[in-house]
Amino acid sequence: MAETETFAFQAEINQLLSLIINTFYSNKEIFLRELISNASDALDKIRFESLTDKSKLDGQPDLFIHIIPDKTNNTLTIIDSGIGMTKADLVNNLGTIARSGTKEFMEALAAGADVSMIGQFGVGFYSAYLVADKVIVTTKHNDDEQYVWESQAGGSFTVTRDNSGEVLGRGTKITLHLKEDQLEYLEERRLKDLVKKHSEFISYPISLWIEKTTEKEISDDEDEEEKKEEEGKVEDVDEEKEKEEKKKKKIQEVSHEWSLVNKQKPIWMRKPEEITKEEYSAFYKSLTNDWEEHLSVKHFSVEGQLEFKAILFVPKRAPFDLFDTRKKPNNIKLYVRRVFIMDNCEELIPEYLGFVKGIVDSEDLPLNISREMLQQNKILKVIRKNLVKKCIEMFQEIAENKEDYNKFYESFSKNLKLGIHEDSQNKTKLAELLRYHSTKSGEEMTSLKDYVTRMKEGQSDIYYITGESKKAVENSPFLEKLKKKGYEVLFMVDAIDEYAVGQLKEFEGKKLVSATKEGLKLDESEDEAKKKEELKEKFEGLCKVVKDVLGDRVEKVVVSDRVVDSPCCLVTGEYGWTANMERIMKAQALRDNSMAGYMSSKKTMEINPENPIMEELRKRADADKNDKSVKDLVLLLFETALLTSGFSLDDPNTFGNRIHRMLKLGLSIDDDAVDGDAEMPPLEDADADAEGSKMEEVD
Ligand code: ADP
Repeated sequence: MAETETFAFQAEINQLLSLIINTFYSNKEIFLRELISNASDALDKIRFESLTDKSKLDGQPDLFIHIIPDKTNNTLTIIDSGIGMTKADLVNNLGTIARSGTKEFMEALAAGADVSMIGQFGVGFYSAYLVADKVIVTTKHNDDEQYVWESQAGGSFTVTRDNSGEVLGRGTKITLHLKEDQLEYLEERRLKDLVKKHSEFISYPISLWIEKTTEKEISDDEDEEEKKEEEGKVEDVDEEKEKEEKKKKKIQEVSHEWSLVNKQKPIWMRKPEEITKEEYSAFYKSLTNDWEEHLSVKHFSVEGQLEFKAILFVPKRAPFDLFDTRKKPNNIKLYVRRVFIMDNCEELIPEYLGFVKGIVDSEDLPLNISREMLQQNKILKVIRKNLVKKCIEMFQEIAENKEDYNKFYESFSKNLKLGIHEDSQNKTKLAELLRYHSTKSGEEMTSLKDYVTRMKEGQSDIYYITGESKKAVENSPFLEKLKKKGYEVLFMVDAIDEYAVGQLKEFEGKKLVSATKEGLKLDESEDEAKKKEELKEKFEGLCKVVKDVLGDRVEKVVVSDRVVDSPCCLVTGEYGWTANMERIMKAQALRDNSMAGYMSSKKTMEINPENPIMEELRKRADADKNDKSVKDLVLLLFETALLTSGFSLDDPNTFGNRIHRMLKLGLSIDDDAVDGDAEMPPLEDADADAEGSKMEEVD
C-alpha cells in the first residue's frame, strides 16, 4: 500500500486559495490558459533537455497537450508529456513554497485587479480552483516515480505514490472535478473557442478529445414498432412523408477521437503585412500572460551574414517587479530554427531593455547551445546589437503619438535613463527620447531637442536642476538668475537622472550644466561684468568673515552670480555630488561609505550682494570683524541655505533652537524668563554642532 502524506498549504497560498474559491470572478475561463501555459512550459523544458540527451524522451517520445472532457464524471483533464514533477517538485511547487508573487497578486486583487492577471504573478496553477472543487495532479518525472497530488483546498493537500497502474511515461495529468455551475467547460465548442482565444500560439499540438456521433440505419424490429406506435398518435400524417421517414430511420452512434485545436505555425514566420493587429495581440498575450494588449510591436527579419527573425513588444505598463533585483527581468525567448531553446536569454538584450518582450528565432545558432556557450557567442552579440537598435526605433515610433508616448514614458523612462548610463553607444539616441518638465514647459514635458530650439541667443549650455520633486526645485534659489535672464531650466527629479546626466554630459554639442554646481557661467554685458567686479571687492571682507565663522563646513565663500532674491545658496563642485545625489546616496542602505568621503559635496557658499540682509551683514562685519550678531546670523543663514539648496541638516535640533531664539527676539521675550533656557546652545558658538549639541551633554 502506498503511503499518503498530508501537507499544509503555506499560509499565503492558503489565503490565495480561499480568495480564489470564495470570491466571485466573472473571468473564470482563464484557468484553461494557465494550465495549458504550464503544460507548454513543461514541454519546453523537456525538449530543451533532450537537445543534449535524446534518451530523456524515452519515457514518452511525443510532445503534446491533451484535453479530455468527461461528462459522465464531470471532470476536465489536461495531460502534457512535459518534464513532469518529482515528489519534491510537487510538494514545493504546488503548495509549500510561496512565490514572491503570491502576496503581490492578492494585493493587486484587493486593489481591483482582474483575476486573469494571475499568470503574471507566477501562481497560475491555483486558478484551477476557479472552476474545480477538487484537483488531482498525476505526474511522472524522469528522475522519480509517478506521484499523485490531490487537494480540495481547505488548508491541505496529499501526495501519494501512484499505484493505480496507469502509465504516463512522462509528464503531468491534471484532473479537475468541476463545480456544479462550471459544467460549461465540458462543452466541445466552449473548449475549442477558449484554446483559440487564449492558447492559439502554443507551439505544441493541443488536441481535444471529442465525441463524434455517426448516424446508422436501424434494422431492429422493436425499434420500428415503437416508432409506429408513436407515429400512430400523430394525426394527419402525409403518407408519402411517412414512408420516406421510415426509410431514413437511423440511430446515433457515439465514438471518440482527437481533434487538433491550435495551428502552431509560428507567427514570426509569416509576413508582417499579412498579420492583423488582433493576431499580434493574441500572440503577445499568450507569450506574456498579459491581460491587456501590447502598446507597440516590431516584427522584423535580418538577413545576410546572419539570419534571424524577431518580434518585439512593448507592454502598456511596467510589471509589478520591474526593478526587482532578485528576478532577472528579461523576457526574450530564444528559438533556433523554430525549436524553443530558452526563456529569458540574458545575452539577447541589455538589462535596461528588460521590459521588452518577444521572441528571436535564429537560423545560425547550433540547436544544442548551452547557457554557458551563449556568453561567448558572437552570433548572439550581433543579434543583441540588432535588437537594441530595433527597440530604439520602436520607441521612436511610439513617440510619434503623444498619448502613447506619455504612457510609455511614465512606465519606462527609468529604463531609458538606465540605458543612457549603461549603453554609451546608444546614449545619444536614447537621450532624444528623454522628456522633462522645465521652467518653460508648463504641464507638458519637453524633449532636449525642443529645448535646443528654444535656446536664447548667446545661450551656449543646456541648464538643468536636480532634486527630489518638481515642487522642490521649481522655486529653488539657484534658478533665480537663470529665470531672470529668460533661460529655460530642465527639472530632473528622478533619482536616476543624476546618473544619466552624469553620463550624458552634452546634447547636440551643447553642454548640460547644473544650476546647483560650480561653473555656471552666464554670459554678461560689459556693464554687468564691471558691476560684478565692484561688488566682489566690496564684499571681500564679509566673505572672509563668513568663511571664518563656518570653518570646514564650506570650501569657500564667494559673491554669487546666480541668486537674485535669496540672500545666499550653497553650490557643489562641478565633479562632485549634488545635494540631490548626496540625498540619494544617503538613502541607499547598503552603500559603500568609502565613496562618501571624496564624492560628498564640497560646498561653496555664494552670497547675494544685492540682498539687504547681506548688505547689512557686510556693514556690521566691516565695522567689527568680531561682531557677535554677525556670527549668529551667518550660522542661521548657512543652515537655512542647506535646506533651500536641497541638503539635509545633520543636526536639526541646533537649527531649531536657533530659530526659537530668533522667535523670542521677535516676540521680545526675555531669555532668562524661559524655563530650561540654560540648556540652550549658545548661538554664537560656531563649533556647537560639530561637538554635538549641549542639550545632549545635559541629557
Ligand atoms: P508558474 O507556472 O508561473 O511558475 P504556477 O503556479 O502556474 O506558476 O506553477 C507552479 C510551478 O509548478 C511551476 O513553476 C512548475 O514548476 C510546476 N508545474 C505546474 N504545472 C506543471 C506541469 N504541467 N508540468 C510540470 N510542472 C508544472
